[in-house]
Amino acid sequence: MRFLSRLINTSRLSRVLLIRILLFSGLFTVIITAIQLSLNHQKYTDELQQKSQELIELSTPSLTLALWDLMENSALVFSEGMMRSGYYKSILIKNETKKDIAFLGQIDKNADKQTFNLIAEVEKRPVIIGTIEYQIDTDQVKQKTIDEFIIILISQFIKTFFVSIFILFIIHKLVIRHLNDISNWLESFKPESSFSPLTLVADKDSSNEMVKLKSAISEMGQQVHKHTTGLEKIVTERTAELEKLAYTDSLTGVANRCAFLQVSNEELSRSRRLSYDVCVMMLDLDHFKVINDTYGHDAGDKVLKQVSEAMNNCLRKEDTLGRIGGEEFAIIAPGVDKGGMHKLASRLQQSIALLDFSFLPENKNITVSIGYTKVSNDEDFKEALKRADKYLYSAKNSGRNTFITDKGFVPSIVS
Ligand code: GH3
Ligand code: MG
Ligand code: MG
Repeated sequence: MRFLSRLINTSRLSRVLLIRILLFSGLFTVIITAIQLSLNHQKYTDELQQKSQELIELSTPSLTLALWDLMENSALVFSEGMMRSGYYKSILIKNETKKDIAFLGQIDKNADKQTFNLIAEVEKRPVIIGTIEYQIDTDQVKQKTIDEFIIILISQFIKTFFVSIFILFIIHKLVIRHLNDISNWLESFKPESSFSPLTLVADKDSSNEMVKLKSAISEMGQQVHKHTTGLEKIVTERTAELEKLAYTDSLTGVANRCAFLQVSNEELSRSRRLSYDVCVMMLDLDHFKVINDTYGHDAGDKVLKQVSEAMNNCLRKEDTLGRIGGEEFAIIAPGVDKGGMHKLASRLQQSIALLDFSFLPENKNITVSIGYTKVSNDEDFKEALKRADKYLYSAKNSGRNTFITDKGFVPSIVS
């Protein structure tokens, strides 16, 4: 019973199945029982009819004799004996003048009445000396039929109930249990979460269709998981590639303008949070147009690549180099003081000056003009960048290949 209540409470399918099996088999049982009992009813009625007839026939000689001898009391006693048989509802005996000699029981207006003649032989001729009218008692047959119907119905119901539970148990074992496993698994199956295959350990090779279905679903889950994991990896790689493309200058491989500004703003926020200085530097190659015009655009590109590589090599890992215009570069350098910036500018100029441009016919020297400044606490990054650009143009105006910064930011050793 515990199994049944657990089954019904947990599985809707079991509930529906049990109710339907009970309903259908109950209905079927009622119909079959009703047919069987209506046949029985007819049989019992026929038997009663026959027995009552036989008793009448048996009693006829005695009754005839009693009437012939005008012994009405004897006729009454005989009738009472017949009534005690329980076959009759009413018995009415009349003599030849139709006078009631004996009347027993109650007349049922709806029941059939049968008449039997009491015949005596007078001078070798049959003479009717009375009649016996009777109605058989079909109520007992009805009651018997109803009692049987109730007993059969109850026993059939109990049988059906237990057979239904047994069928349900088998269906549960063979089908519902597996369906539950599958639906629980599908509900919890999330390809992105850690994957747990269906537990099909013991009967993995069974030919049961449900077990095969579980295996197929489990297999499919593994494929989906594998596929999704692969796709996720590809998407992550592609996203990283796209991000790199979006933030990198395709010619030199350094940060493009957008990426440089983003990194600089982040750096500035961090420096303000942690209270350290940030400097920004602008660089522009001197007379670069001449390189392009004289040796061609491809040669100019090569120069740009080499120069950016050289500049990158001069930086610490905390610094960021960005190409923010054609041959204009910028550097953000966190945690550097005026002495450090001075050294950085000199180092940049020297490394660019030392570059080998042997692919240019005259092995031309490339120089760079620089302007730099410290980002103040009360300004945003673009303002500082503009100021560095202003110093850069001052450097250009001062004859190029030099660097300029705020007056207060020049290290004492230099001035
Ligand atoms: P200045 O010393 O005043 O800076 O002189 P400049 O010749 O460098 O003058 P300007 O800055 O006006 O010239 C920049 C030149 O850089 C113009 C353009 O032809 C060149 N340039 C810009 N982007 C590229 C590029 O991607 N590749 C090449 N090869 N040349 C570029
Ligand atoms: Mg320029
Ligand atoms: Mg220039």
